Amino acid sequence: MSKQFDVIVIGAGPGGYIAAIRAAQLGFNVACIDEWKNAAGGAAPGGTCTNVGCIPSKALLQSSEHFEHANLHFADHGISTGKVEMDVAKMIARKEAIVKQNNDGILYLFKKNKVAFFHGRGSFVKAVEGGYEIKVAGKEEEILSAKQIVLATGSNARALPGVPFDEENVLSNDGALSLGKAPKKLGLIGSGVIGLEMGSVWRRLGTEVTVLEGMDKFLPVVDEQIAKEAKKAFDKQGLKIELGVKVGEVKVSKKGKDSKVSVAYTNAKGEAQTLDVDKLIVSIGRTPNTNGLNAEAVGLALDERGCIVVDDLCKTNLPGVWAVGDVVRGPMLAHKAEEEAVAVAERIAGQHGHVNFATLPSVIYTSPEVAWVGRTEQQLKEQGVKYKAGTFPFLANGRARALGDTTGMVKFLADAETDEILGVHMVGPMVSELISEAVVAMEFKASSEDIARICHAHPSLSESTKEAALAVDKRTLNF
Ligand SMILES: Cc1cc2nc3c(=O)[nH]c(=O)nc-3n(C[C@H](O)[C@H](O)[C@H](O)COP(=O)(O)OP(=O)(O)OC[C@H]3O[C@@H](n4cnc5c(N)ncnc54)[C@H](O)[C@@H]3O)c2cc1C
Repeated sequence: MSKQFDVIVIGAGPGGYIAAIRAAQLGFNVACIDEWKNAAGGAAPGGTCTNVGCIPSKALLQSSEHFEHANLHFADHGISTGKVEMDVAKMIARKEAIVKQNNDGILYLFKKNKVAFFHGRGSFVKAVEGGYEIKVAGKEEEILSAKQIVLATGSNARALPGVPFDEENVLSNDGALSLGKAPKKLGLIGSGVIGLEMGSVWRRLGTEVTVLEGMDKFLPVVDEQIAKEAKKAFDKQGLKIELGVKVGEVKVSKKGKDSKVSVAYTNAKGEAQTLDVDKLIVSIGRTPNTNGLNAEAVGLALDERGCIVVDDLCKTNLPGVWAVGDVVRGPMLAHKAEEEAVAVAERIAGQHGHVNFATLPSVIYTSPEVAWVGRTEQQLKEQGVKYKAGTFPFLANGRARALGDTTGMVKFLADAETDEILGVHMVGPMVSELISEAVVAMEFKASSEDIARICHAHPSLSESTKEAALAVDKRTLNF
């Protein structure tokens, strides 16, 4: 006999656990299955985001930023510290404690919302009258069944062809977030969001970091003016970024404890080069994870990249089967997974859940941070949209000066005729927080004039948002 539920969610990352909680709030009897194990073999819900993604990377970025501030900037405030040391093991232990708090928090939320959690691998057995049977392979084997299935099985790091991750020398995000000490030399293949965040952590701790990027443009998805400003800052910090390279053979040589990784590549001029490092992080994208689902048993359709095929409403080709998050098309972002999850649970309940892809914010949590929402200037040009632009530098913001961080700017792009905000792009201190105002404004179809006329607290970084909006109409007050 199978255990009967209304909704079964496979995966408890931000897509899965949010789908389960929202479905439970809507009155459904919900099961959520997740196979992630912590070091002790116990359940660790939260997926990539909680265990080896968003949360641990931000914990290490915070620790390493404190270290850099103590080393480079405390003296400006009159604080003398003597020699500052970093205990990497303690930094990693702090990160692990934060991860555990998040795992436990999700288990608590499941309990509170009466979601039945199963630790183990979930896979399709077969379609049955009015639904599906799902096997949970955990400590014991159990069969569950439900009419509605939500797949939220996430993604895995993509390896270089022929160079598997060993997590000792050739690292994915997993190994990169758990190094026992700062390597002397670190190579990083890929200058995307994840690569830049990892590179920043270890550079701040004294590692010489070289980033090899195949594309000849830095951060091509970011507004060009903002990407240029960010690159200037990273160059100044000593993050070596080589663009337009072609990576060839990667060799790992081991001599006792000392292993080395050697990367053969050609640079942008076509010259043969070798990069010798102690550790190599490969961050060249992620592949959707459907490995354990036994998708063939029910004929679940996948596309050529391995993503579960879904329509605009996250419906798969199978009746009653939905998919959300990294395992489907669209940006691989935790908040995108969460928005899709809420919308799917509401659609199951007959409501009209909706995700606005045009207002999904993106953030790179380096220093300076980079954040944006909406279209870039280059996209507007390509699309032939007539626009007005306004920028405001943090250099002219009193709070930024008081903080001691005046890098970067806020940039507004607004429709030339209607003044509706089409995109907001930021590089600078704490812009991960500032971008929310732009998201709200765009959701409400605000004009740049709307933001320009709203009172912003003084002194605050957010005044730069107001000033950039004023700049669209060429009437900044403080620059
Ligand atoms: C280093 C790093 C930093 C990141 N930082 C950010 C950030 O700052 N902001 C942001 O928005 N995004 C960030 N991301 C991306 C973010 O982590 C993902 O977009 C997000 O986790 C996707 O959520 P998901 O629920 O779709 O999948 P996941 O979080 O990958 O969760 C999927 C879960 O399903 C489980 N699972 C898979 N198959 C089965 C099965 N058959 N049975 C049972 N369980 C199964 C997995 O074990 C996992 O727990 C980062 C990613 C990385 C790698």
